[in-house]
Amino acid sequence: MKKAIFLDRDGVLNEVLSDRVKFVNMPEQLFLLEGAAEAVADLTKAGYEIFVVTNQGGVGLGFLKERELKRIHERLQVLVAEKGGHIKEVAYCPHKPKAGCECRKPNAGMLLDLAERYNLDLANSIMVGDHERDIEAGKKAGCKTVFIGSDPTKADIRAPSLFEAVGDILELLK
Ligand SMILES: [Mg+2]
Ligand SMILES: [Zn+2]
Repeated sequence: MKKAIFLDRDGVLNEVLSDRVKFVNMPEQLFLLEGAAEAVADLTKAGYEIFVVTNQGGVGLGFLKERELKRIHERLQVLVAEKGGHIKEVAYCPHKPKAGCECRKPNAGMLLDLAERYNLDLANSIMVGDHERDIEAGKKAGCKTVFIGSDPTKADIRAPSLFEAVGDILELLK
C-alpha cells in the first residue's frame, strides 16, 4: 500500500480572494502560492503519491463548466510538473454545496474513492487544508491532518504555508 498526501487546492496550492483573483473560474486565474510547486516537488521526491481534493461547488452552481475546471487542473499539473512535482490526480466535487453528496468535504468520499482506486494506506497518509472542513474530511478518512493558516484547529500540525509545512509533513509520515 502506498502513502498519500491529499492537498486541498484553493488557499493551499493557489491564490483565492487575493488582490488579483477572487475565485478561479478559468486557467488564467490560477496563480500558485509562493513555494507551493516546490513543496509538491519535495513531497514527490520523498516518494509519496500526491492528490488534490477540491470542492468545486461553482460547477453545480453554474459559475464554471466542468470542461473549464479540467483545463484549470491541467494547468495546475503542468505548473507543478515544471518544478519537478507530480500530482497523480485532481479529484473534485462538482456538486452544489447543499446537495448532500458524499464527496464534498467535510465528507471523506473523494479520499475514500482515491484510496480504493490507488490502494492507499490512509492511516499513514495526510490531508492538508486551509479550512476546518478539510481537516474533518481527513479525520473521517482516518488520515493525519495538516492545517495551513493561523486559526486554532485540531489538526496534527499547523503551518503558515504548504512550503513551510514540508519538513513537518515528512516527519509525520516517517
Ligand atoms: Mg481551501
Ligand atoms: Zn460532491
